[in-house]
Amino acid sequence: MQYIFNVKEGIHKYIKLGKHYSFPPPPIKRCHNPKCNKTVHFRKHGFYERYFYSSEYKGKVLIRRYICPLCGCTISYIPHFCLPGFINAVKHIFEYIYYSFYREGSINSAIKHLNLEYGIQISRQTLYYYRKKFIKNIDMVQNGIRQIIRGVKLPDKTLEDIEKARNVLAIVISEYPDIHLFSQKYYQATTKTFLASAY
Ligand SMILES: [Zn+2]
Repeated sequence: MQYIFNVKEGIHKYIKLGKHYSFPPPPIKRCHNPKCNKTVHFRKHGFYERYFYSSEYKGKVLIRRYICPLCGCTISYIPHFCLPGFINAVKHIFEYIYYSFYREGSINSAIKHLNLEYGIQISRQTLYYYRKKFIKNIDMVQNGIRQIIRGVKLPDKTLEDIEKARNVLAIVISEYPDIHLFSQKYYQATTKTFLASAY
């Protein structure tokens, strides 16, 4: 199980401090293991590394892990700039999807935009996959949005998925100018990322 937390000091400080960063203290919460399911005081349980790719930083990121003292299940705390299960920065992924719909309106120009604007090179195949996934998951994404934006007016049910996706992107951008906050809230509410049906 992964939780997203806000790194208010920013990515550079987080990377620089490494293990000395002041991570959230071990939480007291219900264990996610259905066989355990007790409210426990988690304990620190080392770190692991994952890769991260963004215009600000490319390389390994340390992730804090905690363990349930009763059953040994672990949880980890993912910094807000990461999307659980994805190497690429959430802001680049989202900007790419948004750009491909709204700005020049094509996948090629969205790829060019990321490259010129941020020096980011993500393969066409990967970006295409993100976009496709977002469209394919759009009904689920809308369910998530309903939970985090009170009284939101979502696109008409009769629209094609691709048109729903276009509308939903506009809603997200206007409600959450900081996409990290959206990603974090969405993940908290649904325990899924806006791109994945897993977890
Ligand atoms: Zn447990």
